[in-house]
Amino acid sequence: MTDKAIPGLHHVTAISGPPQGNVDFFTKVMGQRLVKKTVNFDDPGTYHLYYGNQTADPGTILTFFPFADAGPGRAGPGMASAYAYSLGHGAFDDWMERWALDAVDFDGPTERFGQRVITVADPDGAKVELIETPGDHGPDLDGFHSATLWLDDIAPTHRLMTDVMGYEEVGHEAKEGQERTRLRAPGDARGAVIDLLRTDAPSIGRPGAGSIHHIAFRATSDEDQLEWRERLLQAGMQVTPVIDRQYFNAIYFREPGGVLFEIATDPPGFTKDETLEHLGESLKLPDQYEPIRDRIERVLPELTV
Ligand code: ZN
Repeated sequence: MTDKAIPGLHHVTAISGPPQGNVDFFTKVMGQRLVKKTVNFDDPGTYHLYYGNQTADPGTILTFFPFADAGPGRAGPGMASAYAYSLGHGAFDDWMERWALDAVDFDGPTERFGQRVITVADPDGAKVELIETPGDHGPDLDGFHSATLWLDDIAPTHRLMTDVMGYEEVGHEAKEGQERTRLRAPGDARGAVIDLLRTDAPSIGRPGAGSIHHIAFRATSDEDQLEWRERLLQAGMQVTPVIDRQYFNAIYFREPGGVLFEIATDPPGFTKDETLEHLGESLKLPDQYEPIRDRIERVLPELTV
């Protein structure tokens, strides 16, 4: 046990193929808002696209690096293998009905820890899960419910998350050759759940389009993040220095099971360089790339939102 706990997920970052199909899927089928259109800070000829709820809150943010020539990736041990959105009790049946009418090809519903789950594949074949949660959260997806980490041995990850990050084991479920252990952060923030998955099926993951690159947890302030950094270093993790990601500050480390973790600050948030009303409308560049904006805009494919 620890006196300090992560509230939940801040964002999930994945790799996709060409960006237009990605934008169409997440804005139309998933009803998300494109809340930021920027570039990969390490490769400014490539977009970095951020989706979220209307107000771009932490815990709703899904980001993509769309590489036009990314080979197909697939999840395997040592990777985050899925993320799940919450859908309120009242809206779940409506979504299934609408998807059926729109000929969206989804699987389920199945049950997981007593909750209904439906799964849809994004244009790169990555699984997107929708989990029915108690209460009425309106007609839209209510940000993340959870992320699943696929691990060969869950013990070291379990230990780090419960001893250091403040998570608690709340359930264990075994079916169809899969064992799922559910951890939950205290409080009721979005994305408070992490599932640790172990399977008997041999598999080797491969980064590429349709794979998750990393998952990011929330820090409430810069000070909070520095405290996390200190604690993780003491726990033997190799943690990067604080990196400025324009909309949050980030630290990264590989958890003992191999999954890339990030801790990202809530401030300053996505209204740092455009108003809430106009989020995602224009291409935003960090200061170092403004001088070459013309060249960047020529290279990036045109996007219709
Ligand atoms: Zn990130």
